[in-house]
Amino acid sequence: MEARNGISFDLSRSDVELYNAARQLLLTAHHSQNHRVAAAMRGASGAIYLGLHIGSKRINVCAESSALANARMAQETSIESTVAVSMDEQGEPQVTNPCGVCRELLRNYGAEATVLVDAGGEVGTVGLAELLPYPWMRATETEWTTQPPEAVKT
Ligand SMILES: [Zn+2]
Repeated sequence: MEARNGISFDLSRSDVELYNAARQLLLTAHHSQNHRVAAAMRGASGAIYLGLHIGSKRINVCAESSALANARMAQETSIESTVAVSMDEQGEPQVTNPCGVCRELLRNYGAEATVLVDAGGEVGTVGLAELLPYPWMRATETEWTTQPPEAVKT
């Protein structure tokens, strides 16, 4: 299928391998409350790092954060690609899009990274920059001069 909205549906063997790593982890570690999502990330070296959602009744920490920490502990300089999976009703892991917090977090460690996404039932890859086109940043961090908003003159 052709690309739409910056998403490519031509998955590589490497993309599928990443998905399978996350899938296998979720099949092993899934718990309906404490471990609902698994993540896999490929570092710049090509190695894969796993992460697992951890949660209690009130607190949830996304799987992406522990995968990121694992990659950094292994001295990875950046993240090349990432995927998260959660269980469907049949107990089969499905690609799950990263939450807003993770999109922001991931940009800090791999602005050029690609993300496997569920694009309405079909899995594709998209650049992180396209998932979060206008990231939060301080006025002092932009590379441009922001003009104050002005109403259209009527
Ligand atoms: Zn998240």
